[in-house]
Amino acid sequence: MDKLTPQQRHKNMAAIHSKDTKPEMIVRRGLWARGFRYRLNHKRLPGHPDLVLRKYRTCIFVNGCFWHGHHVTLPQLSDVRSKMEDVVNSECCKIPKTNREFWVAKIRRNKERDKEEQRKLAEMGWHCITVWECELKPSKREETLESIAFTLNHIWLQDHRAKVITNPESEEEDMRMPMAAEE
Ligand SMILES: [Zn+2]
Repeated sequence: MDKLTPQQRHKNMAAIHSKDTKPEMIVRRGLWARGFRYRLNHKRLPGHPDLVLRKYRTCIFVNGCFWHGHHVTLPQLSDVRSKMEDVVNSECCKIPKTNREFWVAKIRRNKERDKEEQRKLAEMGWHCITVWECELKPSKREETLESIAFTLNHIWLQDHRAKVITNPESEEEDMRMPMAAEE
């Protein structure tokens, strides 16, 4: 059963939906403390990523588990009305029984939008990292932040290694250099 009054629910949802939500602040502070610098809510990029790290060509989205349907299984689109009982809630995303069709439709739209935005970003050459609210609870927080830092460093290395290998000029230059002859 859903014990919140409509007013309470509205207040909760508004808090979850607003800018500078707590999970986002955790990621910002955690990455800042590890020396990463970023821009916020980049308006020109699809999906207005929460954090944009240009040096790493990476966008970070900090997703609320409820709104973005973390680990939840939704009924097939072709049968939305008849199959509401097919919803499988997860630990961190429990779709209310009241108005279930409304919430399923809303969360489905959000998930589809996320996917589309990340596809566009990938086409533009951006890496995307999604951080989930449940990964930022106190017991998991440090591990999650370490893992983001690791991923960013890995991305940087990959990008730079690729440039060195595929730079044809340096290869040509190499070919023009006289071979060293060992005595
Ligand atoms: Zn979650």
